[in-house]
Amino acid sequence: MHFHLPTAEIFVPDGLPVEQALARTTHLAISAHQDDLEIMAAAPILQCFQRQDLWFTGVVMTDGSGSPREDLYKDYTDEAMRQVRFKEQKKAAIIGEYAAQVMLDYPSQFIRDGSDQQPTEDLAQIIKVAHPQFMYTHNLADKHDTHVGTALKVIAAIRSLPEAERPQKIYGCEVWRDLDWMVDSDKVSFDLTSHENLQLALLGVFDSQICGGKRYDLATMGRRRANATYLESHGVDTTLGLSYGMDLTPLILSPQVETIPFVQEHIQRFAHDVANRLTRLGSRDM
Ligand SMILES: [Zn+2]
Repeated sequence: MHFHLPTAEIFVPDGLPVEQALARTTHLAISAHQDDLEIMAAAPILQCFQRQDLWFTGVVMTDGSGSPREDLYKDYTDEAMRQVRFKEQKKAAIIGEYAAQVMLDYPSQFIRDGSDQQPTEDLAQIIKVAHPQFMYTHNLADKHDTHVGTALKVIAAIRSLPEAERPQKIYGCEVWRDLDWMVDSDKVSFDLTSHENLQLALLGVFDSQICGGKRYDLATMGRRRANATYLESHGVDTTLGLSYGMDLTPLILSPQVETIPFVQEHIQRFAHDVANRLTRLGSRDM
């Protein structure tokens, strides 16, 4: 595989040759930063854990050099920080038994630049070789520019491939903004009841981001538990952890489906849900 940046890396935890390692992929997740995969795509990681027939591959778009740094890491240079974040991502890939972990090493501004085709071309190459059934990326209503930039490039990469090489499904997942606001019929729910220990381990290796006081590990586990409890007001909890996805598949099935109206329709269904309830319960001011 030849990526645009010579510093891009592919790490294969079990040491298989790269193309072979990628070709076994069934579940492919693509995120902006190191640790996003473990926050947003824990369900497919766990689904593939200890399986010979299901394999998770992760792709991280950015180099991590601009990461915030505190505590132990506060005097680290950008390059030292980049290395720490690569190392942490590889630790997660070992714990989660990923088929492969790709790090494309782009500075964030490349991902936020809608006209830059290089990351999209790299992604198309990965998707072609990995040929996953299921894909995961950031949701299009996320509030972090690099996350949304990543999701747009993932969609563009899939659309550039012939239909037979596209995944069956693609989901936009939760990091910077959860998806609890979506109406229930729009929610794709991923059950995260099992392997809480592994979920914690996968989040916990990203020490450089957590130790400065941002407890992404606790916040993410809390969100999963909150999603599970607040999904239904009636009846007892059927799961102990849930994460939500927005089904982005219509965007890859047909290039005629436009991104902005597609997301806005989800927001409108939420807006109608709120308004309908108020009307039904006797609000007189509408
Ligand atoms: Zn991120």
